[in-house]
Amino acid sequence: MNDKLINFMPCIFCKIINGEIPSYKVYEDENTLAFLDINPVNPGHTLVVPKKHFSNIEEADEQTLCQVIKIVKKVGAGLKNNLAAPGYNAQVNNDPSAGQIVPHLHFHVIPRLENDCLSLWPQKKYKKNQAEEVLNKIKIK
Ligand code: 5GP
Ligand code: ZN
Repeated sequence: MNDKLINFMPCIFCKIINGEIPSYKVYEDENTLAFLDINPVNPGHTLVVPKKHFSNIEEADEQTLCQVIKIVKKVGAGLKNNLAAPGYNAQVNNDPSAGQIVPHLHFHVIPRLENDCLSLWPQKKYKKNQAEEVLNKIKIK
């Protein structure tokens, strides 16, 4: 789906936040909502969203990001303590090219279980001089 189409569509997470669409709420406060993903990678897979609509990390202000990551931490602790998950993935698909389908900033918090057979993305090797070249482009001065 292209960016223009995504931005035109009404935001499904804003509808969940407003109560127009039901959800299984894991946590809620004034600024942040956490609810079960409708298609979990593992049971307990939770989405943590700011109540204010931001499409991605760059758009969101720092205060909002801090509020959301605090709740990611709380939710992750709950998954570990109450689902006996030894770990979890906390992930943002930031922009459609990174797999973002719903254009409202959200963290996936995915409980990981022993032998759940999930694997992360394949990794590559740097070619000669490539690490230095890319570093020169992205280094924050
Ligand atoms: P994205 O690919 O944008 O990072 O992930 C969006 C996530 O939202 C998907 O994992 C998808 O299962 C979940 N999702 C999409 N629509 C709904 C919905 O109506 N309710 C809930 N609870 N989750 C949804
Ligand atoms: Zn929204």
